[in-house]
Amino acid sequence: MTGPQRGGEAGHRGRWFRLRAAPERSGGDAMTGDGTRVVHAGVPEAVPGRPFLPGPAFGAPYHLEPVLGPQPGVDGYGRTDNPTWRALEGAIGELEGGECVTFASGMAAISAVLLSVLRPGDTVVVPADGYYKTRAFAASYLGERGVTVVEAPTAGPYPALGTVRLLLVETPANPGLDVCDIAELAARVHAGGGLVAVDNTAATPLGQRPLDLGADISVASGTKALTGHSDILLGYACTRDPQLAAALTGWRGATGAVPGPFEAWLAHRSIGTLDLRLARQTANAAAVAEVLAAHPAVVSVRWPGRPEDPAHEVASRQMRRVPGVVTFTLAGKAAADQFLQAATLVFAATSFGGLHTSADRRAQWGDDTPEGLIRLSCGVEDTDDLVADVRKALDAIGA
Ligand SMILES: *Cc1c(COP(=O)(O)O)cnc(C)c1O
Repeated sequence: MTGPQRGGEAGHRGRWFRLRAAPERSGGDAMTGDGTRVVHAGVPEAVPGRPFLPGPAFGAPYHLEPVLGPQPGVDGYGRTDNPTWRALEGAIGELEGGECVTFASGMAAISAVLLSVLRPGDTVVVPADGYYKTRAFAASYLGERGVTVVEAPTAGPYPALGTVRLLLVETPANPGLDVCDIAELAARVHAGGGLVAVDNTAATPLGQRPLDLGADISVASGTKALTGHSDILLGYACTRDPQLAAALTGWRGATGAVPGPFEAWLAHRSIGTLDLRLARQTANAAAVAEVLAAHPAVVSVRWPGRPEDPAHEVASRQMRRVPGVVTFTLAGKAAADQFLQAATLVFAATSFGGLHTSADRRAQWGDDTPEGLIRLSCGVEDTDDLVADVRKALDAIGA
């Protein structure tokens, strides 16, 4: 049996270590830079003899008080209670500006948002050009439960939003990198009483804070740039609405879509370098995007950081940084194959946001993208090395 459902409750934090107040909330102006924030996010108070970030706490059941049984503020069972999650949730919650609930993966978090908010008879709008598993999930599992699923392209046009229960947008969208104006869409949805969730996977909370822009939920895969080492699966949802937070926490406890303590600890450890990793990834993407745009083998290139990009105007208003992912299209599968074989620094792999540059020809997954479309995730290699490698691989096409 589990203990009482109390994960995520404020105050339930004293047992293993005490979380510090977030630097940005403690009044010190010197502590508000991104690098400072990520290094200190969710890190406990300094205690002599203790590690900076205590290791993962492993526990399925925890000791109970033998006579009194489950007590408020005392961990009871690992499906609802874990101090390593709480530390990580403190960190992500600080960065997103809301209460955070972590999940086993991005899809566990997205499905939790969809299934805990939507009821039969509701209408949900999902991105037509976003992560394909999200719209596949909506079409099958939500459709058969009596939810009307509408798809809209990220860049619009959007349908009438006055009767929508939930609008889920993904900005920038994976893999096409279109963006949408979160504040404008949130105003339209809120006018009809609906909710807005933003998939913040590509941007990360350092790139954009959806809750500040009016979204009700920021949901993401932590598997990608947030943790950035291509070694863990993780998801999270953040909100400022205590009822939504309770619904998500309840859903996680009921379904057991929980992150492992070791993954949660690795994630927290990785977030400390998020600012540094993103800075290099974005610089690499900027350089690579120019090489791609100038090369005759490239049919089209998308990177919202380029002034020529259709997403640039909204992205530069709404985002604090542009992710290190560049999407480009070659003539077809043969050209993409040649590119991937000729590049030595570019791993052929799905996912994105990791230390290593990787490239994914999305059509191989049944994504309805052109055969020659490649999503290139720039890693943290030296810019000159990466640019030279990409140029060499492009030159090899048709050679
Ligand atoms: C990868 C991804 C997901 C799913 O995340 P997992 O951690 O793989 O479950 C959801 N949304 C976007 C935008 C993604 O890129």
